[in-house]
Amino acid sequence: MKVVHTPRHLLHDPQVEYESSGAQSPFEHIGRAEAVRATLQADARFQLVEPAEWGTAPIEAVHNPGLVRFLAEGWALYTAQHPGVREVVPDVFALAALRSKMTPGREPQAIGGRVGYWCFETTTPLTETTYEAARGAVDTALSATQIVLDGARAAFGLCRPPGHHATADLYGGYCFFNNAAIAAHHVASTTGTKVTVLDVDYHHGNGTQQIFYDRDDVQYVSLHGDPARAYPYSIGFADETGTGRGAGCNHNFPLPERTDDDRWIDTLAIACERIAAFGPSTVVVSLGLDTFINDPISDLAVTTEGMRRSGDVVRQLGLPTVALLEGGYDVAALGANVQAWLTGLGA
Ligand SMILES: [Zn+2]
Repeated sequence: MKVVHTPRHLLHDPQVEYESSGAQSPFEHIGRAEAVRATLQADARFQLVEPAEWGTAPIEAVHNPGLVRFLAEGWALYTAQHPGVREVVPDVFALAALRSKMTPGREPQAIGGRVGYWCFETTTPLTETTYEAARGAVDTALSATQIVLDGARAAFGLCRPPGHHATADLYGGYCFFNNAAIAAHHVASTTGTKVTVLDVDYHHGNGTQQIFYDRDDVQYVSLHGDPARAYPYSIGFADETGTGRGAGCNHNFPLPERTDDDRWIDTLAIACERIAAFGPSTVVVSLGLDTFINDPISDLAVTTEGMRRSGDVVRQLGLPTVALLEGGYDVAALGANVQAWLTGLGA
């Protein structure tokens, strides 16, 4: 199986994240992707290849061009006003309710206001070269997708930073551009066929759901920790099923604490029935490994063998599949968990 990887992910190297009302060492760091790369590089079944350059057009087909512009220039503008700052984090959020009964408003002019206009939370620092890393993750996703469009049955994009929390207009949740959504839209728009995004990350992919919520050509199917207790808290409930043309195309499976391999696999099998009924040409998997039993920020109980079984369930759909790395924070096990998942998928 081809694995698309670029060292450009090293350009996003935050040293701190603000979470649970404190500053702490980031869970999402360069060591994650390096661990996955090392494991797959040592396994002769995987062939590492570099991504092509795709430019900004596929990104702006999904995201607000204003978000792209902000991520490209935001760090430099902010640090010109605040010399010595290494990582830019918002402190004022432009929440819609601030302007209730008024017009929606416009992007603030001041850089301090712009950060909180384009970002929805505090765990996602913008560093000097984050934009280049985020562009590299999109290139990785699109190149892995192209391998499948060119006829391979499966491919893996070692995307970092991850993507599924980024909405059309907002970054956050360690995510800047929504790699999986950009890939899915690329397939749908260039082939005229239906696509499914299957999201198996512990956290609900609120960004992907938002981007496709009113569309009937891209189905979103997610298994995740119940937002009643799990990030992102306000989205990912079972009664969110799509709107307008997209009604019935969004499927959420919120799961209880300590969900084990058998319950996870049973739920995934039901999810795959929904995928088969939709009839997509291609499946894009948002492959988070933070459902793992020892993950430090999650509370499900899937084992490495459960990861292999998951890949096998998806393989049985018999559809061309591109898997893209999302979360997974037990770095010591992350390489083995990706390897197991892709083995099930048919590496
Ligand atoms: Zn996650």
